[in-house]
Amino acid sequence: MPTIFSHAVAAVAVGTTYARRSVPFKFWVWTALCAMLPDVDVIGFAFGISYGDMLSHRGLTHSLTFAFVVGFAVVSLAFREVETFTRRWWSLVAFFFVVTASHGALDALTDGGLGVAFFAPFSARRYFFPWRPIEVSPIGLGFFSERGLEVFESEIVWVWLPSLALVAAVWGVRKLIQLRAAS
Ligand SMILES: [Zn+2]
Repeated sequence: MPTIFSHAVAAVAVGTTYARRSVPFKFWVWTALCAMLPDVDVIGFAFGISYGDMLSHRGLTHSLTFAFVVGFAVVSLAFREVETFTRRWWSLVAFFFVVTASHGALDALTDGGLGVAFFAPFSARRYFFPWRPIEVSPIGLGFFSERGLEVFESEIVWVWLPSLALVAAVWGVRKLIQLRAAS
């Protein structure tokens, strides 16, 4: 995985493209949480689940199915004020699906570990993207080390900077639209 913070950073950046008007603070909290959530599967190691198993790291919780379920669950539980099955409700579900799925997508861009089981539980096959520029992060707190620093550097380049660029681009485009509307 990229380190857990990088997942949150990328998700918040994606969130800025979605959140046009002011959104409640919890929107950002859930955005960060959903992006980090798939890595709860590392606790499986403590229970002796072997890497490669459907339930192990980068398995079921990194799948599109999981992201779909999380999208529904978060909106149903945390955004009760939004009327069910309205356009706004569906767009929130879609957003939290994308944010949760972004985690597996970033993992599939890393250069180590096992691939991501995107299609679990229907298939246990693991996937990587053909292009894998991000250095894989040591699991757990191993990133407080020299190797961790290297990983962090690669995440700055491949996750944080693109995220910042995305936020800047969204901000720029919105400003332009505002200026046009005003003139
Ligand atoms: Zn992960």
